[in-house]
Amino acid sequence: MAKWVYLFKEGNAQMRNLLGGKGANLAEMTGLGLPVPQGFTITTEACTQYYEDGQEINDEIMGQINEYIGKMEEITGKKFGDAENPLLVSVRSGARASMPGMMDTILNLGLNETVVNAIAEKSGNPRWAWDCYRRFIQMYSDVVMEVGKKYFEELIDAMKEKKGVKQDVELTAEDLKELANQFKAEYKEKIGADFPDDPKEQLMGAIKAVFRSWDNPRANVYRRDNDIPYSWGTAVNVQSMAFGNMGDDCGTGVAFTRDPATGEKGLFGEFLTNAQGEDVVAGVRTPMHISEMGEKFPEAFEEFNKVCKILEDHYRDMQDMEFTVEHGKLYMLQTRNGKRTAQAALKIACDLVDEGMRTEEEAVAMIDPRNLDTLLHPQFDAAALKAATPAGKGLGASPGAACGRIVFTAEDAEKWDERGEKVVLVRLETSPEDITGMKVAQGILTVRGGMTSHAAVVARGMGTCCVSGCGDIAMDEANKKFTLAGKEYHEGDWISIDGTTGNIYDGQIPTADAKIAGEFGRVMAWADKFRTLKVRTNADTPADAKKARELGAEGIGLCRTEHMFFEEDRIAAFREMICSDTAEEREAALEKILPYQQGDFEKLYEALEGCPVTIRFLDPPLHEFVPTEEADIEKLAEAQGKSVETIKNIIASLHEFNPMMGHRGCRLAVTYPEIAKMQTRAVIRAAINVKKAHADWNVKPEIMIPLVCEEKELKFVKKVVVETADAEIAAAGIDLKYEVGTMIEIPRAALTADAIAKDADFFCFGTNDLTQMTYGFSRDDAGKFLNAYYDKKILENDPFAKLDQTGVGKLMELAIKLGKPVNPNLHVGICGEHGGDPSSVEFCHKIGLDYVSCSPFRVPIARLAAAQAAIRSGDEK
Ligand code: ADP
Ligand code: MG
Ligand code: MG
Repeated sequence: MAKWVYLFKEGNAQMRNLLGGKGANLAEMTGLGLPVPQGFTITTEACTQYYEDGQEINDEIMGQINEYIGKMEEITGKKFGDAENPLLVSVRSGARASMPGMMDTILNLGLNETVVNAIAEKSGNPRWAWDCYRRFIQMYSDVVMEVGKKYFEELIDAMKEKKGVKQDVELTAEDLKELANQFKAEYKEKIGADFPDDPKEQLMGAIKAVFRSWDNPRANVYRRDNDIPYSWGTAVNVQSMAFGNMGDDCGTGVAFTRDPATGEKGLFGEFLTNAQGEDVVAGVRTPMHISEMGEKFPEAFEEFNKVCKILEDHYRDMQDMEFTVEHGKLYMLQTRNGKRTAQAALKIACDLVDEGMRTEEEAVAMIDPRNLDTLLHPQFDAAALKAATPAGKGLGASPGAACGRIVFTAEDAEKWDERGEKVVLVRLETSPEDITGMKVAQGILTVRGGMTSHAAVVARGMGTCCVSGCGDIAMDEANKKFTLAGKEYHEGDWISIDGTTGNIYDGQIPTADAKIAGEFGRVMAWADKFRTLKVRTNADTPADAKKARELGAEGIGLCRTEHMFFEEDRIAAFREMICSDTAEEREAALEKILPYQQGDFEKLYEALEGCPVTIRFLDPPLHEFVPTEEADIEKLAEAQGKSVETIKNIIASLHEFNPMMGHRGCRLAVTYPEIAKMQTRAVIRAAINVKKAHADWNVKPEIMIPLVCEEKELKFVKKVVVETADAEIAAAGIDLKYEVGTMIEIPRAALTADAIAKDADFFCFGTNDLTQMTYGFSRDDAGKFLNAYYDKKILENDPFAKLDQTGVGKLMELAIKLGKPVNPNLHVGICGEHGGDPSSVEFCHKIGLDYVSCSPFRVPIARLAAAQAAIRSGDEK
């Protein structure tokens, strides 16, 4: 028979998966001999079983719970429902990973009319007894029966008003008794049954409620945001009560051993006398600073300080503790490694190394890479943000904070910017033409699009804050206005957006530039010592490349050449190229573009100072480049000596029903080899020039052919590249090496990787497209239905943000397994958005990639994640 229940005495910190974080740490503290009210933990497996059994607690589990109630009664010498010596307990959730405040807790369970009268008399403290009872009815009704908190709060407010008092503590025993009765009446009215009197019935109801709370909406959202799988389940802790509400020699508190905001060593926390549970955080009364506790409760405070030291030394990390003082005696109710800001995480890690508590390796492993994001972007002023209420929410597509005046077009963004105004660009969706406007905007807000929509990818690349896919916005682009949460917004109105949470705020919230503290560099240097995976960046401009180098990038893994065509002075020539009728016409147009591209590449090589640069050849469908404005069409017609009619016909002929699966990628080079020839010339000539100027640099271009699905396709394009490149090199009379590789972003390429590897010097997984094509989900539209998939538990994460290791990952593994034996020199990387996602980076390390490539601002995250992957896999060996 499986064991579903453990006494605190039977567990320890290593049993976190089974007992949950809270249960495992209560057990550990018990083992350390600390003052912990005793009890038992029902395992996370029992929770999973409860869901498997159709949300029922089966007989076997029920039997063990009853058995453990008996054991608990023995340990505490108290009995459930007993009038003489009643056992009162708390019922507390606790998952493997801490999810603060996400699930529910019930206190003072075991009370009924008989018991409350008995303890009121026996303790000579009826106020306490009735305070416990009214709290219990309130919590039980809310958590177990979902009656709703507000009805009870209204009753409390009415009572305080009637009595002419301001605070709960001023209510007398009689008042609280009357409140308890009012609560019970409220319960009966809402539920249609009497409030349960039997403690065991109460307990089963509470246990089920905790299991159920694993699936409540805010827990589901929290899990998705924090990478916690639904399958883990929560444990339930049943613990005998310690009472902080028995009078002025009692109280309850929360404290950290170091400041969770700055990392500064020293007690940080709050304490409230004559209070219970969440009163400290609820904000009804103002708690005292933890240091004041020393004056009021000198003994308990001294003991608490000892406990802090014991716990910190034991866990070798900053602790976040909850405790209660009952008649001057300290009880520990919880400890965990405290949540902290990125800045505090870095300081604490460095301090622990300096204090000799942690090795460098351990320090690196303790920092959540996702946290680093906040150090690299502007942030909202914390106090102002706290006071603000969001008007809406979209996807936090690119982190940082932005505050500015609303503009509706990229052009307006530029105009306003020239006037020195800060702007937020609000659009239905963005397109490549908007790039210049996106660059000058503080932030970008779009109505449509997911995490890998154009706006999201480009904004992340630029390190600009972006909130995408806010479907609640009713947009009227034509009239430059939109409606959100009942308010109409016009051009010039102030708006603030948070690219980390996706929140949208009406009006101005001040922002401040984030600071990179000294510890940051120290931790990064340690990370670089441990990682084996290289980290490159996706960068299209020398400025991005420089930024990425500052942040530690070791090369460019993806330069998207098409972004270079959108600049004012080049788009005309590019359009001429598209609208050419003959190869000669096309070549003439390409000839105009060549010097621009060459110049761009030279600047990129200069910025990289000899580090590798991978240049991807033209990828998007051509129709993305054609003019839409009448004036632009006329200009183009004139330049080419064609009629407006002809140009319009050419544009119409470029229309595709499904452009992402249409005439793009290497298919362009197959139909128009002259494009590949021009790009090759630009790459090679640039490399030759830079090599001449810097003999000591190792300039070795990597040319990357996109969207290959068939070996002959790659062979064909490669031949064009090699012939052109070799001719250039021969003409220059210089010794230059270069590589030609391919993206693996179509499932067929992965499946036939052995054939493709014969002609490829490297593979680079384009996991945005590979995910799109493996799932058959359009990356620009999936946002519309993914929420339904999360709600129905079909998907837990956005596969465009977190690599799908089971499906897409299997294709990657296969491609490596097929490719490497054919070509042992083959080097392999990833350049999809996943290259900067920590769990995806770990996967890349495991399957033997040589490098990941991500947007500049995610480079530090990838470096840290790569180090952690190396450290973890070392542990496993
Ligand atoms: P959360 O996970 O939301 O912090 P907890 O289970 O830790 O929920 O409970 C919240 C608070 O309830 C605790 O901080 C503590 O003050 C109070 N509490 C829980 N169990 C007990 C207990 N056995 N005795 C006294 N107070 C308790
Ligand atoms: Mg807690
Ligand atoms: Mg692609």
